[in-house]
Amino acid sequence: MPEPPESDGPVLVDALAVGLCGTDTEIIAGEFGEVPDGEDVLVLGHENLGRVREAPDGAGLSAGDLVVGIVRRPDPVPCPACAVGQWDMCRNGRFTEHGIAGVHGFARERWRGGPETMLRLDTALADVGVLLEPTTVVAKAWQHIERIGRRAWFDPRIAVVTGAGPIGLLAALLGVQRGLEVHVYDRVTEGPKPDLVRDLGAIYHCDSLPDSGVKADVLLECTGVPSVVLDVMMNSANDSVACLTGVSGPGQKVPVDVGALNREQVLSNHVVFGSVNANREHYEAAAQSLAQADGAWLARLITRRVPLADYEAAFDSQEDDVKVVLDMQTVD
Ligand SMILES: [Zn+2]
Ligand SMILES: [Zn+2]
Repeated sequence: MPEPPESDGPVLVDALAVGLCGTDTEIIAGEFGEVPDGEDVLVLGHENLGRVREAPDGAGLSAGDLVVGIVRRPDPVPCPACAVGQWDMCRNGRFTEHGIAGVHGFARERWRGGPETMLRLDTALADVGVLLEPTTVVAKAWQHIERIGRRAWFDPRIAVVTGAGPIGLLAALLGVQRGLEVHVYDRVTEGPKPDLVRDLGAIYHCDSLPDSGVKADVLLECTGVPSVVLDVMMNSANDSVACLTGVSGPGQKVPVDVGALNREQVLSNHVVFGSVNANREHYEAAAQSLAQADGAWLARLITRRVPLADYEAAFDSQEDDVKVVLDMQTVD
């Protein structure tokens, strides 16, 4: 790529790391994503970490600062949500997303932006700061769970997380940080996930939520697997709040007894809601959660670091992968 144009913003950033996830795989498969206007390629990379190379006076940033670029940018209208900085709640869908929709991603040696488009991170997070963006997704989910909980008396004790991928593990981390008893469900019995859950002080299950008999006050669905989504909707404590974060492909049909589902929701005061993306407030909350977490535990979530030149190997998923990261500093 050529040098990023100055019109992208006054702060010039050297990319350090880019995390990969299912969204990147979908974009590569052509199922998702949009190139910037007037261009015919989209640079990938939304989960990111960089270091400021140049910043103008008054930007609040200086050369050497660690930064994370915020993925979503407000729509140009802007809609009422974007106008108050809640682009994660955009009403008109005309927002852009770095590396996903309409603006290049962070898997470039250098990128530019205004100071309002990035968040400075403590240098202590240099090794794990690339986990900030996936943490923002669950920071928003937890914030909304707590706000919805305040509709009435709410004192959650037990949390369920389905899926022990990076999003599920980070959701579990935030639950443990809030003092909840956290149960994490995944299919695997081997590899790093069960130990990562146990070392967090949470409880690992490889049976299903209904088989385990756990009735949670708060549930975070992080798989998008239709049968698991249904399990989350049908197996919780009275007054529970369940957040869906996993994106399913359409067309996977499972039979649903709508009468039973409705009866369960109504008679138990259940809330089930969806959550996507994050705004600046969630980036700040996520940075605090990472700063308070055990750095060695966070580092274990990054199971492979692949030099940019070997990017194809990074997308060759391996059994024990949790989070695969492109190392942007070893280009050749
Ligand atoms: Zn991602
Ligand atoms: Zn908007």
